Amino acid sequence: MSLDTPPTGCLHTPVLRERGQREVFCGLTGIIWLHRKMQDAFFLVVGSRTCAHLLQSAAGVMIFAEPRFGTAILEEKDLAGLADAHQELEREVERLLSRRPDIRQLFLVGSCPSEVIKLDLSRTAERLNARHGPSVRVYNYSGSGIETTFTQGEDACLAAMVPGLAETQDETLLVVGALPDVVEDQCLSLLTQMGIRNVSFLPSRRASDAPKVGENTRFILTQPFLADTAHALERRGAQRIVAPFPFGEEGTTDWLRAVAKRHGVMLETFDAVTAAPRARARKAVAAHAETLRGKTLFMFPDSQLEIPLARFLARECGMLPVEVGTPYLHRGLMEPELALLPQTVLSEGQDVDLQLDRHAALKPDLTVCGLGLANPLEAAGHATKWAIELVFTPVHFYEQAGDLAGLFSRPLRRRALLQGAAR
Ligand code: SF4
Repeated sequence: MSLDTPPTGCLHTPVLRERGQREVFCGLTGIIWLHRKMQDAFFLVVGSRTCAHLLQSAAGVMIFAEPRFGTAILEEKDLAGLADAHQELEREVERLLSRRPDIRQLFLVGSCPSEVIKLDLSRTAERLNARHGPSVRVYNYSGSGIETTFTQGEDACLAAMVPGLAETQDETLLVVGALPDVVEDQCLSLLTQMGIRNVSFLPSRRASDAPKVGENTRFILTQPFLADTAHALERRGAQRIVAPFPFGEEGTTDWLRAVAKRHGVMLETFDAVTAAPRARARKAVAAHAETLRGKTLFMFPDSQLEIPLARFLARECGMLPVEVGTPYLHRGLMEPELALLPQTVLSEGQDVDLQLDRHAALKPDLTVCGLGLANPLEAAGHATKWAIELVFTPVHFYEQAGDLAGLFSRPLRRRALLQGAAR
């Protein structure tokens, strides 16, 4: 007799929790992809010259006649409390809004310095809203490195928008997470072909298309780092659809299947809509899996994408994860992913020296890590992938599955070529 139980993967795997020095970007980084997505928004960082430099160098390749982000720099007299920084900030915002009538959403983004001097950005946002609403909506959130890792900036931004979304009693589906427009269009096309109507996206491209929310809204996340946004939507009565994240053929199919089930889509319709793109995704991934199969993988905690990506790389590309680190492990969001992830070491948080020791002992074939660790690890002879590329590159849903696998196979191919040339 045999017992047939569903696979539990890493659901019950003990998690190594570390709370030491960590090497990650702060939440300001999210502005780089958020400002591209929200075409009538402006992100005003209230910070120091360091914050301005971070944004300029991260976004350095983009030149706009009218940029959609900037930094209100806190000078020494502000930091020393000699000037009323609230008043100065309001004056700067007035100047900005009178010069830029195209701005419909203004985000005041807190930083380490604004937090240290306890600048109350919510009060400033309230006052500005009273003056400029409803044509300009002013929000505030924190992107400070004291509070956030880099992808949490998007979570804080979206969570700040939720209380201001209009109420609806209609049955709606809300897809949550900033997707490149082309990927959003692909997602909408698949859902529409299945007969699912009333689909909206958070964030929307323009303020006028902002989604409505209420007790008959079902929402689904496209990114695993949106825990606060999910809670904010639940507080508005919306119900979360639980699913793995739409990375790779399997993740995308499970994600779409969860939505289809909640909307009563017939199995035949689901299969008819997904069959061709599934086949394309499988074929595209297979081309890269040849390079990845059997290779060991070590993921340092950085983007919170680590667990879904390790699942994709293990199950669809044949890689062997030896440690999967994540800055935070939100079990509520991650359960479907953990159930699919083959047994490995899971770590949460970071004590970078201890983790580097484990990494050195394991000598993985591929290391996924932040920029700060990538260069020294490359110099020490390891093949690395910068985690930040994973949020700058379109990687969701079927048509991007091959590109996603390619992000990981490329460093291994490059290393093999270099080694061949050196022989
Ligand atoms: S918010 Fe903090 S960590 Fe981020 S750039 Fe500014 S000072 Fe540095």
